[in-house]
Amino acid sequence: MLKSLLSSFILLPGVVLGQSQTKPDYHIYAIKYADGGHAPISLFASGGPQKDSIDLYFMTWLITGNNGKKILVDAGMTRDLDWTSKLPWFTSPDSPLAEMNIKPDEITDIILTHPHADHINGIRLFPKAHIWIQKEDYGYFVGQAWQKGGQNFGFEKKDVNYLVNLNMEGKVTLVDGDNKQLFPGITAYTGSRHTYNSQYVLVESGSDKVIIASDNIWIYYNLDHLTSSPYMAGTFDTLGYVQSMKRMKTLATDIRYIIPGHDSDIFKRFPLIRPDVVQIR
Ligand SMILES: [Zn+2]
Repeated sequence: MLKSLLSSFILLPGVVLGQSQTKPDYHIYAIKYADGGHAPISLFASGGPQKDSIDLYFMTWLITGNNGKKILVDAGMTRDLDWTSKLPWFTSPDSPLAEMNIKPDEITDIILTHPHADHINGIRLFPKAHIWIQKEDYGYFVGQAWQKGGQNFGFEKKDVNYLVNLNMEGKVTLVDGDNKQLFPGITAYTGSRHTYNSQYVLVESGSDKVIIASDNIWIYYNLDHLTSSPYMAGTFDTLGYVQSMKRMKTLATDIRYIIPGHDSDIFKRFPLIRPDVVQIR
């Protein structure tokens, strides 16, 4: 007993020290892979003006760590989806990464905020990535969404099959609920319900806490006016959507570090490091 007590006293400071020494530092990038053209703000923000329009971008987010991690938050979509040919501009999400000298098989992990096709379809481009998705979002995506009364708007059957196969290969972790640390310095939160139980990601980057909200905030207008997205743009819980944005404001170091899913203004607010890449800092 004494021996084990002693050893825990001796070990504890070492363990704590070890953790603080290895606390990783991350760099965060927003990567544009498609331009969605103009659309009225009211389409994405309840109560938003119909006369004013917004430039919609499709993005993925890259987190690189000094711990060897190269993590994507969402994976974009591929030309497999017919509607990519109708967009004003589209490139495969792995090509901006190639310009940053990152090969597809170097992506270690993909955190899926939710399984809408423009966020999940690109997982097939990254053969070695381990997938992280909310357990309830996964369950709904592969099951209930396709039952009578289920909501499968924005879901692709081929993505369901692909994800189920990855799960059977042991390449998927089902994250069970809110405030779950996925990696040191990277935590997943829920509550917005853009899909059945969508998640957003908080990344500790230096002394900053950055939130990659993805579609849990469609555009800056939602955040600035604390207004939900209308039903057409998804959302199982309009009140939860708003509450969730209020909570993000308490979690992030500054409101400017809360990054919405489809707002082209991100590319005006942060430094451009390549034509289609900004660094969130
Ligand atoms: Zn979405």
